[in-house]
Amino acid sequence: MMQRFDKAVDLLGISEEMYYILKVPRKQVTVGLPVTMDSGEIRTFEGYRVIHSTILGPSKGGIRFDPDVNLDEVRALAAWMTWKCAVVDIPYGGAKGGVACNPREMSPGEIERLMRAYTTALLDVFGPDQDIPAPDMGTGPREMAWLMDEYSKSKGMTIPAVVTGKPLVLGGSLGRTEATGRGVMVSALAGMEKLRINPYRATAAVQGFGNVGSHAALLLRERGTAIHAISDISGAYYNDKGIDVADAIAYRDANKGSLEGYAKAELISGDDLFSLPVDVLVPAAKEDVITRKNVSSIQARMIVEGANGPTSAKADDIINEKGIMVVPDILANAGGVTVSYFEWVQNRIGYKWTLERINRRTDRIMKDAFDKVYETSLKYKVSLRIAAYIVAIDKVASTYKYRGGF
Ligand code: NAD
Repeated sequence: MMQRFDKAVDLLGISEEMYYILKVPRKQVTVGLPVTMDSGEIRTFEGYRVIHSTILGPSKGGIRFDPDVNLDEVRALAAWMTWKCAVVDIPYGGAKGGVACNPREMSPGEIERLMRAYTTALLDVFGPDQDIPAPDMGTGPREMAWLMDEYSKSKGMTIPAVVTGKPLVLGGSLGRTEATGRGVMVSALAGMEKLRINPYRATAAVQGFGNVGSHAALLLRERGTAIHAISDISGAYYNDKGIDVADAIAYRDANKGSLEGYAKAELISGDDLFSLPVDVLVPAAKEDVITRKNVSSIQARMIVEGANGPTSAKADDIINEKGIMVVPDILANAGGVTVSYFEWVQNRIGYKWTLERINRRTDRIMKDAFDKVYETSLKYKVSLRIAAYIVAIDKVASTYKYRGGF
């Protein structure tokens, strides 16, 4: 993240003082959370919240429950959120939080007590006008409901806008589940238009068949693109006649969330998926999957990054030399934070929007952001990734100049 940030800052000619204003997080909080486990033993967990920036507005970012969470990781992810919100032009700064714990080995009761303890420890950090958390790895709507309840109890009133990613009945937004995949689809179509690829004749391969990957595949299929391969942790599945994505989703849902044994496609290796002669490649599983080792085998004309950080900085240089278009993560997967923003807006006005309105507005925001990044890439003669950072950094830096400091 920092390599790309530094390059964009250089191109923009940002002063050294502004560099540090943008780089150094505003606030970092570490909390100790003693929680009574089901056994009666008290365990103390360490939790973090980093507010990277509040220049554009209240900070926004998920909460991660994972054994490997540490302050450095949370700092990097918080900065990422600042640039992601800025690139799609929504009025938020960036934040991230996490607790070092293993939710897979904890009971629902233990997770609930931990979430409530974390919320209480951060009561003066969170707030609908201050810092608005959301789910991330290891947390979901259930945890966000507990956070909202604990925060609301402390204030003596119901405050749904303190957190997004809530269950629908508690003020969650329609369209949030598929929002990130939808943004990937909009970015892919916008990229195809620039490359003059007809989506009805195009082919795609999608790595990862979870929330982002399966929705991206389904929505691309609905727009005419043939999905030649999909994959999950169990392997990759290839069919040169095109995969029936809705059927694969139904299979996964009836098969404990796994594609294992999916018989309507040929089982290939995860690596083979990357070298298929498709038009669009969508990495939507995890970070660092396109590296110096496999980048030379990629034949796709376009990569749309559904996952965060799927391409290493070294691989990026080779991709650019090969002339492959990459729609970068901070743009391509920003559909999720966009609909989170809509959830917050709906909570604040006390009114529920229709799915049709949410989808229309998400598509508009994603398309406008793509066009702005594309124009910037032509102006500075840089990749879409560096252009996305330029758009984001320029926006935050110029807002700071108006607001001023001390
Ligand atoms: P998820 O857990 O729902 O799905 C992940 C999928 O990737 C699963 O199908 C899993 O089996 C598969 N997978 C894991 N390792 C794999 C491997 N080595 N090879 C092939 N498949 C593998 O997660 P998600 O919410 O879809 O998130 C995917 C990525 O998108 C992550 O990088 C996440 O940070 C990013 N992202 C998600 C959202 C969102 O709204 N969910 C928003 C922005 C970014």
